[in-house]
Amino acid sequence: MTSAPADFAARVIRWQRTHGRNELPWQNTRDPYRVWLSEIMLQQTQVATVLDYYARFLARFPDVRALARAHVDDVLGLWSGLGYYSRARNLHACAREVVDVHGGEFPRSAQLLQTLPGIGRSTAAAIASFCFGERVAILDGNVKRVLTRVLGFDADLANGSSEKQLWGHATELLPRRDVAQAMPRYTQGLMDLGATVCTSRSPSCLLCPLQDVCVASREGAPEDYPVKSRKLKRSAQSLWLLLARSRTGAVWLEKRPPAGIWGGLYCPPVFDSREALAAALPSDAHGALREETPFVHVLTHKDLHLHPVSAALPKAALSRAAGSWFGPSEWPALGLPAPVRKLLEIA
Ligand code: SF4
Repeated sequence: MTSAPADFAARVIRWQRTHGRNELPWQNTRDPYRVWLSEIMLQQTQVATVLDYYARFLARFPDVRALARAHVDDVLGLWSGLGYYSRARNLHACAREVVDVHGGEFPRSAQLLQTLPGIGRSTAAAIASFCFGERVAILDGNVKRVLTRVLGFDADLANGSSEKQLWGHATELLPRRDVAQAMPRYTQGLMDLGATVCTSRSPSCLLCPLQDVCVASREGAPEDYPVKSRKLKRSAQSLWLLLARSRTGAVWLEKRPPAGIWGGLYCPPVFDSREALAAALPSDAHGALREETPFVHVLTHKDLHLHPVSAALPKAALSRAAGSWFGPSEWPALGLPAPVRKLLEIA
């Protein structure tokens, strides 16, 4: 490992000014509501996808008070399709806390921002740096990649102590002059470098402002960084979905429990087996069941093997307390898991 050059921050800032992303709708603002919303949406989601959702969210909930007043179902409905729904539930909980505990103003330091639901250390630092010019380091996936490569930091990030060490380096490298002015552009610069130049596969080292000091590039093996030994184990799960339709085309949907898969979203009844699905219906309804083509829905850590089973049922056949019939005109506003929305649209 090597130490970074003294002008590390200045290089990143200079590069960001001319080559970074400067026209995204959540940039050029110091409004913590807008910055926070974009940061949460950008976790695990590409910029291109976030653009639409961000605009729709702001149109519906223009400030933190409007979001706090909303019903969580409306927030989940608007989030539908972005995935990782715990983000939407936390978003709503966070808005409520900002209003109830902080009088409608986001706290102005990373340390306090971290106490809010759904805001981790790096997100808190991004908000504090962008909005309040605080000298505090971010360390999301993109930034970890850039820093480990430039520094040749080859300690295993699966170990908490290595990660802590990297936080230390990230803090060391922060700008020291004109901090309030420099921090937003520096933070954005690191994010942009990781997203557009220092990509996981085939980074564009020739376009990088850090190439002459980058250890990984000198070694000719940037993709060896960051080092992380613990791989996520993938698992698989099979689920049977009862797509019960009334004569008028309404579908029976139930609200999922808050924890677990598709927590808080609306979904057809879900079963672990075909037998359990049949057992939930009166026996004279069994003849109406029709198997649809099964398909796989891929989540980050899990493959879901989904088996839809359709049935045209009289409304009385489903007496489960937890759900209701929803007509096609109501589906767009409901929080539905992406594969369920697709199923409803094609069925
Ligand atoms: Fe990444 Fe290459 Fe730049 Fe090093 S020189 S930081 S590996 S893009």
